[in-house]
Amino acid sequence: MSLLEMKHIKKEFSGVSVIRDISFSVEQGEILAIIGPSGSGKSTLLRCATMLETIENGEILYMGKKAVWTENGKLFLAKKQQRREIESCFGLVFQNFNLFPHFSVIKNITDAPIRVQKREKETVYREAEILLKKMGLADKADAYPHQLSGGQQQRVSIARALALKPKMLFFDEPTSALDPELTGEILKVIKNLATEHMTMVIVTHEMKFARNVADRIIFMDKGAIAIQGTPEEVFSSENQRMQEFLGKLS
Ligand code: ADP
Ligand code: MG
Repeated sequence: MSLLEMKHIKKEFSGVSVIRDISFSVEQGEILAIIGPSGSGKSTLLRCATMLETIENGEILYMGKKAVWTENGKLFLAKKQQRREIESCFGLVFQNFNLFPHFSVIKNITDAPIRVQKREKETVYREAEILLKKMGLADKADAYPHQLSGGQQQRVSIARALALKPKMLFFDEPTSALDPELTGEILKVIKNLATEHMTMVIVTHEMKFARNVADRIIFMDKGAIAIQGTPEEVFSSENQRMQEFLGKLS
């Protein structure tokens, strides 16, 4: 069974189509990279998948269970209890880290597991310390976000997402706010998660990284999937938009 299925998703902002009939699925353990020009709808697609946006048409299923769907143009959401279950199955890592500035690192990581998931405090703290060690931040538990580099902040936000024990992670351009030397440390963390078979959907401009790490790549253009396939298929494609896109990057 697919972990995530997106079927015929359409999204408009004020009557303007931003996502035009997109369908794809993500299997357990799979790493999907989403690439494409700025404004092609990549962030909106992630926001629809994670229920941060409504949709005009389509169906979104997690583990075979309907999370969001439309019937005759009307939007339906899974019931609150089921939605909570669905929401706890994924984590999100944003471009701008989105840490709570007034919380220490350890509190950023432990707050939601304790308050939202109602898990036992001691266990959550113990696990958070293990996660911090794994992220190379063992000595930063009591620091505040503003005392950390961008790369360190992004590693905290990855730890925060992992603390909720998600089945899959979404990344929206996790390195685009970082200097090149800090980008590498985040890509390394994601590569490590890949070796642990974490299911991931990664929107990225790092073409070399996408090519090396992804099992499958979706190239988006103007709100639609222009090509999808293995990295080899996508990067060797003669699709004109893809070639233009790669040309602009180099
Ligand atoms: P990408 O992440 O690929 O750069 P986005 O998903 O951010 O693209 O944006 C796709 C299109 O949707 C753009 O034209 C953008 O201006 C528009 N858009 C995104 N979010 C909103 C919003 N909240 N309101 C109106 N238009 C939006
Ligand atoms: Mg974006």
